[in-house]
Order: sequence, then structure tokens, then C-alpha cells
Amino acid sequence: MAKDAEDAAPASGDLVVLSGVNKHFGALHVLQDIDLTIARGEVVVVIGPSGSGKSTLCRTINRLETVDSGAITIDGKPLPQEGRELARLRADVGMVFQSFNLFAHKTVLENVMLGQTKVRRTEKAQAEAKGRALLDRVGVGTQADKYPAQLSGGQQQRVAIARALAMDPKVMLFDEPTSALDPEMINEVLEVMQQLARDGMTMVVVTHEMGFARSAANRVVFMADGKIVEEATPDQFFSNPRSDRAKDFLSKIL
Ligand code: ADP
Ligand code: MG
Repeated sequence: MAKDAEDAAPASGDLVVLSGVNKHFGALHVLQDIDLTIARGEVVVVIGPSGSGKSTLCRTINRLETVDSGAITIDGKPLPQEGRELARLRADVGMVFQSFNLFAHKTVLENVMLGQTKVRRTEKAQAEAKGRALLDRVGVGTQADKYPAQLSGGQQQRVAIARALAMDPKVMLFDEPTSALDPEMINEVLEVMQQLARDGMTMVVVTHEMGFARSAANRVVFMADGKIVEEATPDQFFSNPRSDRAKDFLSKIL
């Protein structure tokens, strides 16, 4: 994906680094000493029981949540707490949620143009051309002038992916992107994500889709009770989980 020369970074190395990250919600210690390094081009699937902190982990990576201690860097730059610099860095992190979160009163094309014109200050014609190209890429080019409610769930989620991609993010976070979809629409979204992974996008994907984890992930991160309990390749993790927590979790879902 094309990036401004100014934003161009070395072609290798660590893109997202969390070190010693802690987060509480009141008395609840929801992220406990999280150390996680994601390399450029890597696809990391995060799995774990409900309430283990997976969504909070994603939300701290783009500063939808602040952290109590520890550090997060994106492409070598620390995430600031607030301000204009935060908005710019946050735009480097694309996020796709379970609930598609499209602007209901904007057309599909407008949804994909908005961040480009407002945050990236892209000229309108250029934003439109790029928006249409991205909508084509995720297979919803013919829906550009409709409103989100006129689309199926699978189509809306693909628009949400296109909207995130329009910002030229350095990393894409997906938080259970197919959990709210009717079963017959899950694959069309996973296929777009598979293609993105093949194209070299750095991705963090929280999902219960173990087929996707097996085929697309370079690494599986298993979380429980706010901790990273286990990290392994998909092959290792699914065939030979080391921890009892992971064994127990897998026995329930597989
Ligand atoms: P997961 O995505 O793995 O299901 P979450 O990160 O959503 O887990 O939540 C981890 C824990 O933090 C849960 O116990 C949840 O209830 C709690 N939690 C999440 N968000 C908040 C919040 N904004 N305020 C208070 N507690 C929260
Ligand atoms: Mg969650």
C-alpha cells in the first residue's frame, strides 16, 4: 500500500510493541504485564475466553483506552496520551469492530472518504477515487451510493474494512469482525481478510474462527484473565497447547 515518503519506514522490524502494559477497570486488573511485539507484515490471531481482555488489548493499541503503566509504540513512535499527534498516530492503526460502526446517515462511499478528507486532508476527488478502488477491492464497488442499512451485514463489514484501509494504516486491528454476522456471510469477510494478509498487511485479529487462525496467522496469542498465557505458531498451538488453560479452552471450542 502506498505511503507518503515522510511516513515511509524501514522495510523490516517491529511495528507494534507493547511492554509491561497494565490496565485496570476499577478493581479489575484487565491487562496484566502485557509484553507483545508484532513484526511488520505479521498476522497475529488473539484468542481466549470471553472477558480475558482481548478487546481491551486492541483498544489500548489505538488509544481508545489509556493504559495505567507500560509503553506502546507504533513503528517506533510512542503513543501520546492526547492531542493532534495522537490523532495522526491513531490513524496509522485501522480498527474493525464486531458491530460495523458505519455512519448510518452517510453513503457507503462517503463513509470511505470521510477519514481521508478530515484526518489525512486528502483532496476530495482523490479520496473518492481511492474510496471507489477500495470498495472494488473488498467486492462492494456497486454499493457505493447506498446507505449502510441497505447492505447485508457481510457487505457492511467489508465497507468497514475498506474505510479503515483508506487511511493507509500501518496495522489493522480486527475485534471479532465476524461474530455479529449471519453464518453465510462470515466467509466473504474472512476472504477479504485473507487477501489482506497475503498482501502483507500487519494484522491483529481477535476471532473465534479457528480456520482463519490456522490458515492466515503467523502466530496465535492465547489470553486468559488479562494475561498472555501462551504464544505459538497455529500448528503448535492447535496440535500441542502447552498450558492447561489453553487445553481447556480448545476442548470447548474445537
Ligand atoms: P474480551 O474482549 O476478551 O471478552 P474485554 O477486554 O472486553 O474482554 O473485557 C475484559 C474485562 O474488562 C471484562 O471483565 C470486562 O467486563 C471488563 N471491561 C471491559 N471494558 C470495561 C469498561 N469500559 N469498564 C469496566 N469494565 C470493563
Ligand atoms: Mg471482546
